[in-house]
Amino acid sequence: MISQKLQDAFNEQINKELFSEYYYLSMAAYFNTIGLDGFENFFLVQVQEERFHAMKMYRFVNERGGRIYLKKIDKPKTEFKSALEVLELAFEHEKYVSKLINELMDLAIKENDHATKSFLNWFIDEQVEEEDSMETIVNKLKLIGGKGNGLLMLDKELAGRVFTPSAK
Ligand code: MG
Repeated sequence: MISQKLQDAFNEQINKELFSEYYYLSMAAYFNTIGLDGFENFFLVQVQEERFHAMKMYRFVNERGGRIYLKKIDKPKTEFKSALEVLELAFEHEKYVSKLINELMDLAIKENDHATKSFLNWFIDEQVEEEDSMETIVNKLKLIGGKGNGLLMLDKELAGRVFTPSAK
């Protein structure tokens, strides 16, 4: 059985993952508007990732005899200036999520809940990937100056991203 404190913390984190889904959907919509379909695809895959994160926690809380309490999802930012701005915001957001996951782990350690610690290890590893994938695109955008042929080539590369839940 999961403790009340951990149950509350997971419900909060599920809300953050669902906000992430919403935030990245807003970013995808921006890229659709400016004609960068590959970037749109990258963020639509990210949307699926965030729902997957939320559902993974949803199942875990239920398996541990806890209860899910859904909360209000914040309105995401809807206006962006450039691809670089979007990716910098996404990178900042993933660093923030990593901090939240680390705090969840701190609580699991404090509560001496070994099952939750084991469960959260997956998320600790996942956040390394999430930060890296955003940072890589930020760096590439800076290299190409965020425009021209370089931007179109990067867009083409990002069009190839697919969601693979089986690998999770
Ligand atoms: Mg996430």
